Formats: sequence, structure tokens, C-alpha cells
Amino acid sequence: MVTTHNLGFPRIGANRELKFTLEAYWQNKISVKELEKQRDQLCQENWQRQITLDYVPVGDFSFYDHVLDTSQMLGNLPQRILSLGGEALSSYFRTARGHTAGDEIHAGSTAGEMTKWFNTNYHYIVPEFSARTRFTLNASHLIDQIKQAKILGIKAKVVLLGPVTYLRIGKCTDNSSVLNLLPPLLNCYQELLGLLADHGITWVQIDEPALVTDLEAIWQQAYIKAYETLSNNRINMMLTTYFGTLGDNLLLSCRLPVQGLHVDMSQHQLEMPTLLKNLPSERLLSLGVVDGRNIWKSDLHNILNILEPVHQALGNRLWIAPSCSLLHVPVDLARESGMDTEIRSWLAFAQQKIEEIHILGQALNQGRDSVYEFLAANQHALSQRRASSRVHNPEVTSAIAGLHPTMGTRTSPYALRAEAQKQRLNLPLFPTTTIGSFPQTDDLRRLRQAWRCGDIAELTYHQAIYDEISLCIREQQALGLDVLVHGEAERNDMVEYFGEHLRGYIFSQFGWVQSYGSRCVKPPIIYGDIQRPHPITLPWITYAQSLTKQPVKGMLTGPVTMLNWSFVRDDQPRSTTARQLALAIRQEVLDLETAGIQIIQIDEAALREGLPLRRSQWTEYLSWAIEAFRITANGVSDATQIHTHMCYSEFNDIMAAIMAMDADVITIETSRSNADLLKALDNLNYPNELGPGVYDIHSPITPTLDQITTLIQQTCQHIPAARLWINPDCGLKTRRWEEVRPALKRMVEAAHQLRAIH
Ligand code: GLN
Ligand code: ZN
Repeated sequence: MVTTHNLGFPRIGANRELKFTLEAYWQNKISVKELEKQRDQLCQENWQRQITLDYVPVGDFSFYDHVLDTSQMLGNLPQRILSLGGEALSSYFRTARGHTAGDEIHAGSTAGEMTKWFNTNYHYIVPEFSARTRFTLNASHLIDQIKQAKILGIKAKVVLLGPVTYLRIGKCTDNSSVLNLLPPLLNCYQELLGLLADHGITWVQIDEPALVTDLEAIWQQAYIKAYETLSNNRINMMLTTYFGTLGDNLLLSCRLPVQGLHVDMSQHQLEMPTLLKNLPSERLLSLGVVDGRNIWKSDLHNILNILEPVHQALGNRLWIAPSCSLLHVPVDLARESGMDTEIRSWLAFAQQKIEEIHILGQALNQGRDSVYEFLAANQHALSQRRASSRVHNPEVTSAIAGLHPTMGTRTSPYALRAEAQKQRLNLPLFPTTTIGSFPQTDDLRRLRQAWRCGDIAELTYHQAIYDEISLCIREQQALGLDVLVHGEAERNDMVEYFGEHLRGYIFSQFGWVQSYGSRCVKPPIIYGDIQRPHPITLPWITYAQSLTKQPVKGMLTGPVTMLNWSFVRDDQPRSTTARQLALAIRQEVLDLETAGIQIIQIDEAALREGLPLRRSQWTEYLSWAIEAFRITANGVSDATQIHTHMCYSEFNDIMAAIMAMDADVITIETSRSNADLLKALDNLNYPNELGPGVYDIHSPITPTLDQITTLIQQTCQHIPAARLWINPDCGLKTRRWEEVRPALKRMVEAAHQLRAIH
């Protein structure tokens, strides 16, 4: 018999209950008791949703983040937070957000750092370590959950973050080595496993996704040491890996003394033979056959073709599950009653993926005939999708076939272009500009909402947006900025807005996925060939330009960011979809140019996020990603200036790729990491223009004149003044006008000061 299980279920609830409950608690509108009641309810609902499986994950729920939960359970919250005193829950939220319900909110946050969980869009709170770190176990929350599950008759498998990954994804706040902490950490884990055994738990899922990344020898040794130590207990451990292949950690993973090994088989079936050959004969193998990262129905026949021989060989030793926790997909497709029914029939959200696992289990245990109808329906949906004319558009196929390398190359090298642009734009030294969006007021949100619901006529809506644009232009003129923007009032989200105007995209109504804490995103879905049926931003930008003689910068989202922030089709390589997006946005670029727009910014906020976990795959990714950007941007004439914007400045390891984009100007986030940036610039001799962000838009604080001029003066040591711009480090849409005005005013003053001394 094969055993079915799941690695984790979305915590947010089908109606984002977690978000609303948390926010109510933070605003002092509900008590801790109420908060806990809601949690218990959500957990129970989630367990019920998975009841058809042999093992249901327990301990995967979290109020904010499971890494933070682990830190708290191990007694490893930052000392600066603990010294504030208060209840455990207060310390927890203070570490997550800098403050908790009832706190006064100060500027300078003491929150833990937040970063991306491997290559997903989920963010975790980075554990902090130092030579002074001591671990003390407090597993009462987890034990409570286990007790509740027991009362409900849930067959629980407890989910833990593994000790080696926990150390690996943290940061050291002094110069000590985190691996020194492994022995005391293992003591804590030993104690925990013993406690779980006392509570009748037989299986733990111990997550070690670091095993799919490049590991130095000392980390490989840490794995051996960790699992040799932990093997000495009464509980069965399922060593769980996901987000990629084991690669050169495969032999190591097979060697570790655990009872079972879970591997991500959703896209990596090639590793199966090596795995089967090296798996010790008593070891269980859990195959993650249903992709936990996307929203497509699985090809169940295909999966069964792979699984049946493995089942023959392994018998009871085979388990099946989604590839990873379902945290990364929306909860339930059944909610999407408004979605196009044909496309909906191709999709599977978390609830549907659980059902797929259940059906696969049935098919293996009782034969395919026992689930004949389900399999037939699955086949039918898949073959419809494969053949659908809504997916395949011959015009797009031929446009892609017609792509030519010259399309991604500017006519002249930067030095000549810069000359042409200077003549045309006639900008001062240290030109000032912004990154695109201006404050998104409640009025604006209400306006868009009213238009979407059909409460106001299209014409009325357009007029209101035109009014907002003209207000925004007047504000910028009053501030004395040099290069203006239209302000992005028409956009709810930089990806969604463009997706809504492209063929090949569809939007869910409730397809929320946790980004961090109470924050959720609703990634659009690319189901078919991408085409731009009509201009998207042209009316807004040209209107803005008509109001002023100063240059107005056209504002577009780049193809790689569109791709990385969407659910992407799985029936063609990502690189092909990127090319299609590139061609579509290229048309917008060319239309803007034809309409007389002299500067066009193409945002690639998420380019770096797409980097594969393994270094060896970086070149391949960067080569098609950069090609996509080049196709989008580089069809313009010399005198048109291309800007790009990125929300980070860690360029050191991808500088060659950044340079290959060949944008005339790059604006980046620097206000938090200027030193790193300057180092990168030195190493690589960045040749084009640069706008290091001088105003941290994540903070309500206005930068001082001195801060701005110092940052620019420092940068001048590395890049000639003639190639520097002055701008904030990202869009201003989350700030209020009252914050934005003084900050931009400062920025303009700083530019004047700098001009006077250069
Ligand atoms: N142009 C966008 C804005 O200003 C860029 C946003 C981003 O980089 N995330 O909002
Ligand atoms: Zn940004």
C-alpha cells in the first residue's frame, strides 16, 4: 500500500481570515483569546480539508511565519526584543513587525530582517545568531496543536524546520560561525523529538530544503553530524527536501540515518533512477509528484506511469505528496465561480492538489479502474488545454520565430547615444526624477473600484485619472523635478495592470497567496500565448506629456518581472513565455517613442528573484532573461533614453548581466546598502548612468540634505558626476503626499547644492 500525505497547507484561509484576524488584533479590536480561537478554527478547517490523506501535517500553521515560530520555539528571539519584556506573543509580533498590539510605533524599527524563502515569493523572518546564542525549548504551542488534532482524530505528522536549514538561512550578528551552534541546537531538537514521541507522534517531517542548494563541505558534514545525533530517538523522521533536485547532495541525503526521504519529483523525474539505486533498502521514499508551486492540474496518467513501477519495486515503502508545502498556491479553486469555465477546468489550487494526491493513492492501491471517472476527467481537461486555440496563437508563434538578434541591440553604443540624448533632453547635472508611482490615496482606490464595479462610466473614470495625472504633474513642477512621471494612478499593481491588457493572462478572484505575515498577493495566471491587442499606457503618458515641456518618462513593467510575479504556464519553457512578454511590451515601447516620449523606463523589480537556487543554472536564466529585456527595450533610436529600475543593489554577482541589458540609466535601491553597491561598481566599471536611491521610501522619515549629498558624493568617487541621477529608491505609492513632498523637496535642494560644487 502506498501512503499519502501533505507537507503543509495554506494558512491564510479561503477568505484570508488570517489576514483580517491579525489586523484586527494589531488594531486592538479583538483579544488574544479571540485571535487564538480564530487560529484553532483555521487549523481545524485545514485539517478537515486534508482528511482523505493518510497523514495530515500538524504544526505547519503560523500566525506570521514558520521560521519565526521555530526561532521562538527554540528560545532564539533577538535579545533587543526580549529585553522589552511582555508576553511571548508580543515578542513574537515585535520580532515580526517591530511592534505589537498596544505598542507606540517609533521610527527606527527593531524588527527582524525579512527575506525570501529560497526562490519563492514567501518571506521569512531571518533568525539571528551570535556567539552568545543559547537555545531553550518551549514547544507549548506545537504541543497544543497536537492535542487538538488528536481530539479530532486527525492522523498527524508533525512538521518541523530542520536544524541545518535553520542555521543556514539565518545570519550571524557577530563574527562567529553559526555552525558552532549546531551541538546545542541538536540538544534542543533531541529534547523536542522526545517530547513529540511522548505525545504519541510517530512521524515528523523534518524540512531540509537547503539540501537542494550548493553546499560547501562543512555544511555537508553538518548534515551528517546532525542526523547521526538525531537518529538516536524514538520517532520516525521524514527528511524533506523541495524546490529542486538533490544533485550533488543526493548521495549525502541517501546516507543520512533517517526513516524516510522526501524529494521534489514535480519537474525532476530524471533523478529517479539514481535515487532508487542509492536509497538504502529499509528507507521509505516519499515522492513529491504534484507540483506545489503552480496552479495547473497534474497529468495524473503520466504520474501514474512513473509511479507504478516504483510502487512495484518499493511496495509499502512508497509515499506520495505534493512536491512542497502548498503554502505557495491559493486555497480552493471552487471559490472561483466567476472565472472562465474552460480555463478553470485546467487549474488546481491547494484543495484540488490534495484531491489529486488522494486519487493517485487510490489508483496505486486499488488500480486505476477504481478511480476511472476522475482520471478520465483529468485526461479530458488536459487534452482540451493542449489543443485549445485560446492557448496557442499562430500569430505569436510566427512573431517569436521572426525574432532577430538585432532587435535586442541599440543602433549605437552608449557613448554615442548619451551624446544624442544630451542634445535632445538638455538636462542639468544630477538630474532629479522619481521611480514612477505617486501616492495611491483612498480616493484613488475607491475610484478604480467604482469603475470596476460599473458604478461609474468609463468616461467619468478616464476623466478622473486625467485629473489625477495633471495634479501629479503640477506637484512635480512645483517641486522642481527635472524628469517627470504621470504617477501611475491607473494602476493597482504593476504586473496586474499590464496583465489585464494582454491576451494570454487570466485573473482569479480569490487566488491569494501569502507573501509575508498578513500580506497576501494574487498573482495573475499566464495560460496562453501573450499578445498586446492595443496600446496600454499610451493615452496616460501622452496626456501627461501634453501638459508640460519637460520630459515625461513613460513607465512600463518589464517582461522578466511580469513572468516572475505571475503563475506561469507549464507547457512551454519559461524562456519562451518571457520572449512573448518581451515582444508585447516592446510594442508599447515603440508606440510611446513614436508618440514623442523621449524617456521610457522599463521596471525589472523582480529580475534578481528569478535566479535559480543552483549557481550552475544562473547563466542559462540570465541569458534568456536579459535577452527578453533587450528585446523589449532596445528597439528605440539613439536619442530615446531607456531607464530601468530594480528594487535592490546586490549587483556584484550579476553585474555582467546588468551591463548587458545596456539600459542608458539604472535606478536602484541603495539607501540601505550603499557600501555594497560602491564595491560592485569598483569591481566592474559600470559604464552607463546610475540613479542610486537617496530616499528610503519604506520609511516615513525625510532624509536630511547631508544624507543625500554624502551618498551622492561618495558615489561620485566611483562614477563620474556627469553620469549620476538623483531619485528615491522605489515608487512612492505607499507613502502619503505629506511625506512625499518634503522628501522630494530635499532631494531637489540636494541636487542644487551638488550642482553648485561640481
Ligand atoms: N514604477 C514602479 C513604481 O514606482 C516601480 C515599483 C517597483 O519597483 N516595485 O511603483
Ligand atoms: Zn523598486
